[in-house]
Amino acid sequence: MADPKGFLTHDRELPARRPVDVRIRDWREVYEDFPKPALTKQAARCMDCGIPFCHNGCPLGNLIPEWNDLVYRDDWREAIERLHATNNFPEFTGRLCPAPCEAACVLGINSDPVAIKRVEVEIIDRAFSEGWVTPQPPEAKTGKRVAVVGSGPAGLAAAQQLTRAGHDVVVFERADRIGGLLRYGIPEFKMEKRHVDRRLEQMEAEGTEFRTGVNVGADVTVAELREEFDAIVLAGGATAWRDLAVPGRDLKGVYQAMEYLPPANRDMAASPISAEGRHVVVIGGGDTGADCIGTAIRQGAASVTQLEIMPQPPAARPDSQPWPTYPMLFKMESAHEELEAGAGDRVYAVSTTEFLGDEDGNVRALRLVEVEGPANGFRQVPGSEREIPAELVTLAMGFVGPEKGPLLTGLAALASRDFFDPRGNVARGTSYETAVDGVFAAGDMGRGQSLIVWAIAEGRSAAAAVDEYLTGRTALPVAIPPTARSLV
Ligand SMILES: Cc1cc2nc3c(=O)[nH]c(=O)nc-3n(C[C@H](O)[C@H](O)[C@H](O)COP(=O)(O)OP(=O)(O)OC[C@H]3O[C@@H](n4cnc5c(N)ncnc54)[C@H](O)[C@@H]3O)c2cc1C
Ligand code: SF4
Repeated sequence: MADPKGFLTHDRELPARRPVDVRIRDWREVYEDFPKPALTKQAARCMDCGIPFCHNGCPLGNLIPEWNDLVYRDDWREAIERLHATNNFPEFTGRLCPAPCEAACVLGINSDPVAIKRVEVEIIDRAFSEGWVTPQPPEAKTGKRVAVVGSGPAGLAAAQQLTRAGHDVVVFERADRIGGLLRYGIPEFKMEKRHVDRRLEQMEAEGTEFRTGVNVGADVTVAELREEFDAIVLAGGATAWRDLAVPGRDLKGVYQAMEYLPPANRDMAASPISAEGRHVVVIGGGDTGADCIGTAIRQGAASVTQLEIMPQPPAARPDSQPWPTYPMLFKMESAHEELEAGAGDRVYAVSTTEFLGDEDGNVRALRLVEVEGPANGFRQVPGSEREIPAELVTLAMGFVGPEKGPLLTGLAALASRDFFDPRGNVARGTSYETAVDGVFAAGDMGRGQSLIVWAIAEGRSAAAAVDEYLTGRTALPVAIPPTARSLV
């Protein structure tokens, strides 16, 4: 245990965010550096619980009390070893994870939880800067070839594990660059892309091959893929977006979030869809919506309004969401802070009924109505209709599952049983195997829209299943079964 009295003598503390008026003028990450003595105090707060619920909160089973103790003792080299033992990419989760481990931290029962995520990111950042993150190529090759379709966190985790196990791994990605949503969904101000690039350098040096601009199913057929490879891991994500079928949906200026964010991530200075000088409305109160807000503000929007159909969540855990579940609380992400500093507002319990256009077919306004909440079936409040200016609208209402393109329909045609589960995701058995022999599925494609930490956990676990399928045994770790779900 780091410090037996640490949790009594130190409060939870996180690094400050850069001032709003400074950070919205650039795209860099929003957080200031965290001084080492402050981090040591945070690590010291860990109680090294007999039953560390943080382990269970984290799908990766991160060895959190161990690395808290090592950081407290200034043994950073060993800390990164313990962190990498369960997580291929702590630089992604340390920046982007909503931290179910912290929601499950025992200290959170009657105090603020340990700042686990901050300790995690400091360990990996230090490891990179010290040169401790080096390629780990396999000692022996198996001669087996594995195709990984999709280069998001699930595909990358599976590819790294399988490469290190000695297989020849090729990652196919239809986009022009590797990274999945880490590259083109999540904005630079949440995670600078250099973190993705330096991890890819390590993976390439280990022997993983990347092929971009290849839409598997179209550019390479399912039959060709099966011919060339001994096993296939499907990690194509859940990219089919939820739409809003209201009058005016086809007006110019109404975009899906994933039509708006990727060009902004590709060219921050001159995205072809810019919010500059426009009144922006973001429909959807989740993380994707927050990413649209921060992006629009940096592009110089005249105003930004975020609409959410659900009522405003509570600030503290309600009785219905007790520890150690992950509570749905009112969040103040960096983008919300920027919004409330003057750019606009968040509006809860409203539903969009229509988009209104000008004579050129451009959206100019949005009509909304107040609603009474899920318990009342979102009944509209009579007389509450109103119009707000809307010259650019982004729909951030989530994703309904994987796209049923030629890849999945082609495989479904070969399947011996149902290829899709009742929710439309790729169905898996207990070892991530699909209904087609030698084809496995990991991440959002099998789980549905989820989180980076779950994608990494699934990629690692599916890699173990593939390794066993190819060689008859495996020493790769299994983080979770495909049926594991978060504590809610
Ligand atoms: C805007 C946005 C912000 C988010 N922010 C967060 C966050 O802050 N924290 C968090 O934990 N989670 C966040 N998420 C969710 C998280 O990004 C996903 O859960 C995670 O990326 C899923 O990983 P994946 O590897 O399964 O799929 P993805 O990351 O979706 O990657 C799938 C890849 O497969 C490729 N692909 C698909 N089909 C084919 C094909 N036929 N051929 C070749 N390539 C193909 C796609 O182009 C894509 O690059 C966010 C999601 C969005 C949309
Ligand atoms: S639950 Fe919290 S206090 Fe307990 S070991 Fe995990 S991080 Fe430390």
